[in-house]
Amino acid sequence: MDQKDIFCDDYAIWKQNGTLIYENQHAGAILTFDPIIPGQLLVFPRRHVEDLRELGSMESRGLLCAIPEAFEELQRIYDTDVERVVAFYEMVKQKPSFEKAGHCAEKMLSHPDLRIMPTGYNSGGNRGKEAGQTIDHLHFHIFPARKERPGVVSAMDALLKSL
Ligand SMILES: [Zn+2]
Repeated sequence: MDQKDIFCDDYAIWKQNGTLIYENQHAGAILTFDPIIPGQLLVFPRRHVEDLRELGSMESRGLLCAIPEAFEELQRIYDTDVERVVAFYEMVKQKPSFEKAGHCAEKMLSHPDLRIMPTGYNSGGNRGKEAGQTIDHLHFHIFPARKERPGVVSAMDALLKSL
C-alpha cells in the first residue's frame, strides 16, 4: 500500500496528543488527516487486521458500535468544544505528516462548514487499491452530512445522474 500503517504505528501518539477522539476495547476513531469535509472520521479496529472477517465476534461488535459512537462523540465535540476540531486542522497544517494532508487541512480551515454541527453521516470502507484503499489496516470512513450539505452519497447520486 502507498502509506505507512498509521493505525498501528501512531496509536500511542494519538492517545497522548488528543488526536484519538474515541476508543472502546476493540476500536478507535480519529479525525481524518486528509478529509474532503470537516469532521470526517476514520474508525478502525485496534488489532491489526486487513479484512473484516479476521475479527472475532466481540471485536466486530466493538468496531461496528464504534461508528455511531464516534459520530456521537464528534457531535459532542462540535457542541462543547468546536475549537478542538479547528485546532486539529491547524496542527496538521503546521506539521503535515504527508503532503496531501497539509493541503486538505488548509481547505478545511477555510471551509464554510468548519464550525457547523454535523447531523447525519455516510460511512463506508475502501477495499483494494482500485477502490482507493491506501492503508492495509482495516478502517471505515465517516463522512459527516449537514442540512445545507447533504452528504457524499447524495453527491455521488447527483454525479452519476449527470453522467
Ligand atoms: Zn495495523
